[in-house]
Amino acid sequence: MTREELISALEDPGPENAAVLYAKAYEVKKKTVGESVYLRGLVEISNICRKNCLYCGIRRDNGNTRRYELEPEEVLRAAEFAYNGGYGSLVIQGGERTDRRFIDKITSLLAEIKRRWPLGITLSLGEQSKEVYREWFEAGAHRYLLRIESSTKELYEKIHPADALHSYETRLEALVNLRGCGYQVGTGVMIGLPFQTAAHLADDLLFFKRMDIDMCGMGPYLEHSGTPLYEYRDRLMPKYDRLELSLRMVALLRLLMPDINIAATTAMQAIAPDGRERAIMAGANVLMPNLTLSDVREEYQIYQNKPGVGEDAAISSSMTEKRLRDMKIPIGYGRWGDSLHFSKR
Ligand code: SAH
Ligand code: SF4
Repeated sequence: MTREELISALEDPGPENAAVLYAKAYEVKKKTVGESVYLRGLVEISNICRKNCLYCGIRRDNGNTRRYELEPEEVLRAAEFAYNGGYGSLVIQGGERTDRRFIDKITSLLAEIKRRWPLGITLSLGEQSKEVYREWFEAGAHRYLLRIESSTKELYEKIHPADALHSYETRLEALVNLRGCGYQVGTGVMIGLPFQTAAHLADDLLFFKRMDIDMCGMGPYLEHSGTPLYEYRDRLMPKYDRLELSLRMVALLRLLMPDINIAATTAMQAIAPDGRERAIMAGANVLMPNLTLSDVREEYQIYQNKPGVGEDAAISSSMTEKRLRDMKIPIGYGRWGDSLHFSKR
């Protein structure tokens, strides 16, 4: 697909064409990675972050968030829950921290989880040095999610502070380093950002292809009143359109990169209760039920009105699984669900 074709497929195709696109992407998924959806238990380990991304509710300068960090036992309990529930994998996500204490804590947690259960482990803990990425890989993590947020440097710079801590080049380099360490590498973007056009999104899709990524997680941008980007809320497209655009991104990416893993993300569910299931029907094959303990969940609000805040792990996961069962979509219980693209490399 050319850039122009991608742009026109992203710009309002009308409901009929969108349905055709989703069905085509689903067929491609079925033929390549198969119909199964893989579940990964998501643990939000800490909302302490050294960064100040202009869109994110847990940015350093948001003083209205109570900061927390889970105890190792709490993470282990979530891992046990994931394992007992038949989830093959765990995702550990959190704010970006580079202090030695935190790095060591992750390293020993990884070793302990691997010692106790045969779970696959994905990390999403921001930019780290090559040495830290290697340390975590050796301790047992084998997938890493680091979104590029926008592959267009000018747009990236509009949504981040202009300082060395938020450099586009450093982010790119981190993705290259992750690959070098042996991880299955996932990236992604936010969709419906202020200043973002269909051409930017087409370039994002081409960026994923060029970077030869193994996994992708993308979702609608959701404004948060405690962030600087909130000022531009009047420029945003309606939320429902952001969801539709996200579904088209998922479907087009499935056509472009048939054998990668694509996540149906929580931000989609924040717009419509069945947002993630719709992403599955448009070509996504990974879903991450939130296993974070309910008492800290509300503090991990990267965007407002995040779904599932009042729920605990058991409720979030059983509802997710019931919805998939109702849709007759097979769940890849007990399997890591690695990226086929990666194993073929
Ligand atoms: N600190 C790590 C991981 C946690 S943030 C990191 O930044 O990589 C995980 C993702 O949440 C980010 O990559 C971003 O794409 C998304 N996010 C943050 N704020 C958001 C918002 N307001 N709306 C939608 N997604 C958001
Ligand atoms: Fe921190 Fe990630 Fe939020 Fe940026 S997006 S402020 S790095 S948690």
